[in-house]
Formats: sequence, structure tokens, C-alpha cells
Amino acid sequence: MANPKRKLSRASKGHRRAHLALERTQLVRCTHCGAMIKPHTICKACGHYRGRQILVAENG
Ligand SMILES: [Zn+2]
Repeated sequence: MANPKRKLSRASKGHRRAHLALERTQLVRCTHCGAMIKPHTICKACGHYRGRQILVAENG
């Protein structure tokens, strides 16, 4: 079986994992109501997506 010849040092492991940190989720403004929403999602505040009403308000 193929095996690594040497143990990987903590430093090497750290160097490889230097780029693995999670990034903060980007938020964009809803074009209709201006609320901060995740990109490519329906706005929960007004129910709009790409300028169209998708969700209808529950009470009203
Ligand atoms: Zn909105």
C-alpha cells in the first residue's frame, strides 16, 4: 500500500490549512425593501426576489 514516507509536521499541516478558514456569509440589500439578505434568496421581510413578489404575507 502507498504510504507517506514521513510524518507530516505540525508546521506543514498548519501551512496547508492556512486557507481553510470559514468566511463570513456575504449579505446584500433587498432591492425592494432594503433589508439585508443572503444573495440568491427570497427576502423574508417583503417576500420579493429579483423584483417580483414571491411570498405573500401571512396576516394581511
Ligand atoms: Zn425585501
